[in-house]
Amino acid sequence: MKKQFAVIGLGRFGSSVCKELFKLGHEVLAIDISEDKVNDITNYVTHAAITNATDEKALNTLGIRNFDQVVVAIGDDIQSSILCTLLLKEMGVKKIWVKAQNYYHHRVLEKIGADRIVHPEQDMGIRIAQHIASEKIIDYIELSEDHSIVELIATEKVADQTLAQLDVRAKFGCTILGIKRGEDVNISPLPDDLILKSDVLIVIGHKNDLKRFEDEGM
Ligand code: ATP
Repeated sequence: MKKQFAVIGLGRFGSSVCKELFKLGHEVLAIDISEDKVNDITNYVTHAAITNATDEKALNTLGIRNFDQVVVAIGDDIQSSILCTLLLKEMGVKKIWVKAQNYYHHRVLEKIGADRIVHPEQDMGIRIAQHIASEKIIDYIELSEDHSIVELIATEKVADQTLAQLDVRAKFGCTILGIKRGEDVNISPLPDDLILKSDVLIVIGHKNDLKRFEDEGM
């Protein structure tokens, strides 16, 4: 279903979010205070506006309250990021994502009711470190302090066994959500599905259980 998103702040992060949402077929309003940034994105979004996102009247004129989700990707100017989030909250925007610069910024955003707070550099750093540190891990997504999703390459140890034979949930407490084989992704694998060497297993679980599965099960 086509949704309406607004992205405020068109640095590298904000503009990537805009372009990807638009590619996915959604309506995207891109906003920045800089005319150059807005000109650069015009061909990749539905609408683009040169606007100071701390100006309540200007945000109202853009009808920002009607968007399904708004992403605040104002970086260095933490004060503007906080003020803009506060205005969006007061206007009743349903879901607000905010890029946080640091721990204190994160805490303030939490207090004023940002729905999702992201740290792209930190999150990407963690994902890449996990990938570098383990030959088996090819991707890593942190869901919370304790839980993650990892993509693991199937080794000989698990190859030619069905999910039922592996019984990962009983043995390690984690769950195989999907199996990637080349371009194909099986997102609801059945107990009788066979794992082949070099398949990619998408596994969710507690970090300790995932680590145990990676070390002992694979
Ligand atoms: P990235 O790392 O994603 O490139 P960044 O974290 O360095 O970005 P900045 O470049 O500081 O972030 O800010 C992102 C964008 O937010 C800039 O294009 C800037 O013009 C825009 N911006 C800053 N303040 C406002 C504001 N009040 N209203 C709208 N846009 C703003």
